[in-house]
Amino acid sequence: MNLFELIIKSKSFDQFVKLVEFDKLSHAYLIFSPDEEYNEIFSKLIALKLNCEKVCFDCASCVKILNNTHPDVLIYPKNKNFVVEDSEKINDEINVLPMLSQYKIFIINNFNKATIQAQNKLLKILEEPPKNVLFILNATNLNSVLPTIMSRVQQIELSKFDKKEIITFADKNNLDLNGFALDDGDGWPCKTLKQFKDANFEKNNIIVQNILQNMKTSKDVVKFTNEFSQKEGFEERLNILEKYFDNLLIDVINNKNNEYTKNDAIAQIFCKINQAKKQLQANCNLSLIGDCLLMGILEVKYYASK
Ligand SMILES: [Zn+2]
Repeated sequence: MNLFELIIKSKSFDQFVKLVEFDKLSHAYLIFSPDEEYNEIFSKLIALKLNCEKVCFDCASCVKILNNTHPDVLIYPKNKNFVVEDSEKINDEINVLPMLSQYKIFIINNFNKATIQAQNKLLKILEEPPKNVLFILNATNLNSVLPTIMSRVQQIELSKFDKKEIITFADKNNLDLNGFALDDGDGWPCKTLKQFKDANFEKNNIIVQNILQNMKTSKDVVKFTNEFSQKEGFEERLNILEKYFDNLLIDVINNKNNEYTKNDAIAQIFCKINQAKKQLQANCNLSLIGDCLLMGILEVKYYASK
C-alpha cells in the first residue's frame, strides 16, 4: 500500500504542481486538513516534486527524501511537539546553503501542536527568510496557529477524496474496505485506510516473530519462506526484521547478551537484510530472496551458538 501514489493524484497536489509550473512558488506554505498523515505525505510530495520533476520515487533524491535522509529536506519537530529548540535549530541551519538541490526545505509537521514561544521564534525567521528556502508547515486545525504566522504563509487546504477513488485504491491493494471505514474516514484517505495499515503491521509483526522464534531447521525455512515471501507487505516484513536486529544490537552494545552476541552475528545478518533489499529493488524473485535471507539467518544463528 503506497499512499504517496494515491495522494499524488489528489486535486490539491494538481493545483500545487500548477503553481510550480507557473513559477508562483511562495517561500512558506501551511498545509491543512484533519487527516494528519495526508498532511505529512502531501508536504513530502512537495519536497519530492521540487527535487525530481517527475516524482519518480526511485532516483537517489526521491529515495533520500522518502527515507528522511536528504540533507536539504529537514523534517521537524525533532521530538513530539515543535518547541523553541526546534526554531533555534532551524535558525542555525537556515543559512547553510543547500548541498544537493536548488532549495533548502523545512517541513514542520503538526504545527498546530507548536508552542507559542516556538511559533514566535519561527515568525522572525519567516519574516526574512534567505533566498531558496522553503517552509512547509502542516496542521490538522488552525485554532492554535498564531495569526501572525498565518499572515506570513500561503495556505493550502487539502481537499477530500471522492470515496470511489479510495475504494479503487483499496481494491488494487487487496484491502477489503468496509462501509464503516469509508463513513468514518469521510473522504480523508489516510484516516480511511489507517486501520488496514495498523492491521497489516500487526500481522507482519506476528509473521516475523514467529519465524525468529520457531525457525530451527532448513525444513522450517521452506515452510516459513512461503509466508514471508508473499508480495503484499514484503518490504514491511524486511523492515520489521531489521528493526528487531537493530534492537538486539543496542542490547549487545549495552553488554546485554543474546543468542546473536557471538561472531559478529548481527553484523552478518544486517548484510543479509541489505542484500535482500537490493534484490527487492532489482525485482528479483521474492521466494528466492526470502529463502536466501531466512537460510542465511539460520546459518548465522547456528554459528553464533557454537
Ligand atoms: Zn525521483
